[in-house]
Amino acid sequence: MPKWKFDTLAIHAGQDADTTTGAVMTPIYQTSTFRQRAVGEHLGYEYARTANPTRTALEANLAALEGGRFGLAFASGMAATDAVLHLLEPGDSILAVSDLYGGTYRIMEQVYRQYGLEIDYVSDLLGMQLVKTPRLIWIETPTNPMLRLYDIEQICSWADSLSPRPLICVDNTFATPYLQQPLLLGADISLHSTTKYLGGHSDVVGGAMALKDPELAERLSFLQNAVGAVPGPLDCFLILRGIKTLPLRMERHAANAHAVAQYLTRHEQVLQVFYPGLETNPQVEIARRQMRNGGGMVSFIHAGGESGARKFVESTELFTLAESLGGVESLIEIPALMTHTSTTQTPLAVDPALIRLSVGIEAADDLLQDLEGAFRGS
Ligand SMILES: *Cc1c(COP(=O)(O)O)cnc(C)c1O
Repeated sequence: MPKWKFDTLAIHAGQDADTTTGAVMTPIYQTSTFRQRAVGEHLGYEYARTANPTRTALEANLAALEGGRFGLAFASGMAATDAVLHLLEPGDSILAVSDLYGGTYRIMEQVYRQYGLEIDYVSDLLGMQLVKTPRLIWIETPTNPMLRLYDIEQICSWADSLSPRPLICVDNTFATPYLQQPLLLGADISLHSTTKYLGGHSDVVGGAMALKDPELAERLSFLQNAVGAVPGPLDCFLILRGIKTLPLRMERHAANAHAVAQYLTRHEQVLQVFYPGLETNPQVEIARRQMRNGGGMVSFIHAGGESGARKFVESTELFTLAESLGGVESLIEIPALMTHTSTTQTPLAVDPALIRLSVGIEAADDLLQDLEGAFRGS
């Protein structure tokens, strides 16, 4: 057990006061290289692609928050995903959940498939007849944009029965380690787009992963350096700063999202609402088991079809029409037409009447009033 609780770790893990100046905030080490006293004699840093102290602080912080031993930061969530996919070899197969972040589907289909990987997307992993043991199982939970849940512990123990045991990577972007800690449930990699809740203020693009196995960490750290998609020190600083308030923000995001989901459930212009924490969600038991609360994302199907959805997202005042999610401000979008166009006409295609909300931390009443106004005007 770590010495400190999550909220304390969020602020302190990896961030001792600077030894040379006493600066309380981790300095932005804006340098590409480090002096060596003699050849090969240095303070642990040589060249900033390999390691930079601001990045080291972020990596240590993330490892602590995920209950892991190692953290690796990347220039974007997709760069982190790319590093994981680089572990595979031609002929290997991936078993991924269906309903994935559009960019993850795109990199698997349009970048990696050509190198001889077999990729299957299934919604029921455990009920699946395996032809071949996958090398990698890719889980996203809650999924983007349908907010479907997968039982991480159950999938990991199923994977334990396979030989050789597949690697399990969980895209933990939507939940964040505050809500859900995949490594503690048996996964090998917990991956993030830090662009979203970890950064939390829509001002930085970044990615990361947390790991527990030293060999796997070593291999991925090699890939991080060899491929070179690393974040700059200012970006690392912004994410570290964002993480300090992660617990507070996630509580408020979830409280607001829950209120929005309940409001939508009662609205006659809404056909269906997707929110992990909703009492009426058939998967709410999974949410209770592995998530601290239902998170800040809500999706719903507008009764007016694609045109109704289009009018709606253009009628809100507070909810800003934009891609991305996880910032303090509320955002609204139509996945089929914006974030998930790469899945159009594929089995992963999304209903164009589906609207995705990233519920911010504004006053809940103002958010409900904004949605009500948009329903009236659309
Ligand atoms: C945004 C996102 C990504 C990709 O991250 P970038 O930082 O945009 O590269 C991956 N997974 C999920 C679930 C996301 O929401």
